Amino acid sequence: MILTITMNPSVDISYQLDNLSINHVNRTNKLNKTAGGKGLNVTRVLNQLNEQVVASGLKGGKLGEFLEQSLNDHNIANHFFEIQGNTRNCIAILHEGNQTEILEGGPTISTEEIESFNEHFEELVSKSDVAVISGSLPKGVEPNFYSSLIKTCDKHSVPAILDCSNKALTEVLRGQYKPLLIKPNIDEIAELLGEQINEDIDSLKQSVSNPIFKNIEWVVVSLGSNGVFAKHKDKYYKVDIPKIKVVNPVGSGDSMIAGFASALINKATNEEILKKANTLGMLNAQETVTGYINLKNYDDLYNKIKIIEV
Ligand code: ATP
Repeated sequence: MILTITMNPSVDISYQLDNLSINHVNRTNKLNKTAGGKGLNVTRVLNQLNEQVVASGLKGGKLGEFLEQSLNDHNIANHFFEIQGNTRNCIAILHEGNQTEILEGGPTISTEEIESFNEHFEELVSKSDVAVISGSLPKGVEPNFYSSLIKTCDKHSVPAILDCSNKALTEVLRGQYKPLLIKPNIDEIAELLGEQINEDIDSLKQSVSNPIFKNIEWVVVSLGSNGVFAKHKDKYYKVDIPKIKVVNPVGSGDSMIAGFASALINKATNEEILKKANTLGMLNAQETVTGYINLKNYDDLYNKIKIIEV
């Protein structure tokens, strides 16, 4: 079983308007409400791949109920921990080719809730083959929180895949317990290392070999339309992907993470792991809906990917 963790999920609302009129009432019947958050994008793609996946994290209030119901409607197993606060809304207004977003910060989590969630997490992790931890932390949660989750994974010999940025990631890199795989994109790794990074092989090799990544088996840098540069133990890979028609690349990183989780639990080779992850990233980029893939095009893209050990 694959466990996915989303600590600050949302109910994402998108409103489509012909034009956005500031300081006026804007009306629309074109709207969409979905369970959102990076971990839930990963979950949906894993579900499409027919992997046994359980989504967890924190939820609260009526929007928390909506989130749970929406996963149930898609037959996705979920076991969120109930908090006092309310799950947030994130709003995207699509107008005149633009996307204007309003993102709520979300609830503040109490120390008691965090302690109880840790127990909830341990119970789920003890039944899992891999844990995927994605996204930012809600208010009230210490930046080193993911280190404690990874420590629990370690206790149960469950590999962890971590996809987060900023302080939450820095703290894990500083900590004693390491995830099996991290996947910063080029901007995230540049921010982490505090320097601009060129996309040539030597610069990328140097970046992923930085001592801050010591003891992390897989360091994967996703490069959008340029594929991936990855380090696995002492091997380096450049993944070249074909040119595709892109519709909406948001969530491609999450889709890619689903690919890593699926390939890893199915004991794939390094080449298969990288191909699956990139195929899913590309498939997401070809769709309007975030965290959705059309598997009909899977083999065609998969066979066009080139893995070069460098
Ligand atoms: P997000 O945060 O939106 O989930 P990300 O920034 O973490 O995404 P990206 O590097 O944008 O991740 O994309 C992940 C993978 O998806 C890429 O390595 C690639 O395989 C595929 N991909 C993304 N954008 C494109 C694109 N424009 N063309 C082709 N493939 C893409």
